[in-house]
Amino acid sequence: MENKLVLAAQTIKNAKSIVAFTGAGISVESGIPPFRGEGGIWNTYDPIVLDLDYFFSHYTQSWEAIKSIFYDFLKDKKPNDAHHVLAKWEANSRLDAIITQNIDNLHKEAGSHNVIEFHGNAQRLSCTDCGQLFEASSWIFTEKAPYCSKCDGRLKPDFVFFGENIPHQAFLDSQKSALTCDVMLIIGASGEVSPANRIPDLAKTNGATIIEINPGETIYSHSITDISLKGPAGKVLSDIDLALRELELV
Ligand code: NAD
Ligand code: ZN
Repeated sequence: MENKLVLAAQTIKNAKSIVAFTGAGISVESGIPPFRGEGGIWNTYDPIVLDLDYFFSHYTQSWEAIKSIFYDFLKDKKPNDAHHVLAKWEANSRLDAIITQNIDNLHKEAGSHNVIEFHGNAQRLSCTDCGQLFEASSWIFTEKAPYCSKCDGRLKPDFVFFGENIPHQAFLDSQKSALTCDVMLIIGASGEVSPANRIPDLAKTNGATIIEINPGETIYSHSITDISLKGPAGKVLSDIDLALRELELV
């Protein structure tokens, strides 16, 4: 691990353009469970609540589940060391962009600006009739199910449900970033969610070095990964940051 850490730090130091691709695992140390695996949300809830047809046909019931799965869990959660290190690297012009599958807003809360939200963001609600966007704040908890104040249409969290298209601009921006970076960090992403999982493949095909940070094995570990760092994201990224600072002193 020590040697791999130094190798990762050297690769990052010499890179021209670095992009991070993040999944639910980066927020685990903030206390937000992933969907799958141990302690995963789908062990407790039925994924049907994120099916668009079910959402419209069982509007009030869906909102009840969505509130407890997303808004109760996400409430008061704070960015962890992993989010902070990435924000610092962007501020130091070391990191160009973050492509995140997460909807928890923690990258932005940590201070990152160039965040491509591949699956949207739970902080916003959108009216399914007129398209008006609303900030999701405490008022959604006082209503059984929220309705648009402009047209009385039904409001949906502004993140991607099963079967929905990826937001067009986010899709284009992700592809562009993947095709221009020479190092991609894959952090806390299982690679099981499509089409997001194809973004790192694009980077690899274009010659980027792939550094994976994850305590477990993923579909990337033995396919496109060049340097695999096993461990929780906050710890591993802090260690790389320290190694980088030591390298820069030399
Ligand atoms: P995922 O692809 O996001 O995989 C989670 C990965 O995180 C696994 O590979 C696991 O080994 C890894 N992991 C666990 N603890 C970690 C840690 N401390 N540090 C680094 N990695 C760690 O798969 P999913 O959970 O099934 O999620 C499916 C989709 O739903 C994804 O798009 C995901 O981003 C989204 N989701 C988002 C949130 C959030 O916004 N925080 C939460 C749950 C799911
Ligand atoms: Zn409306």
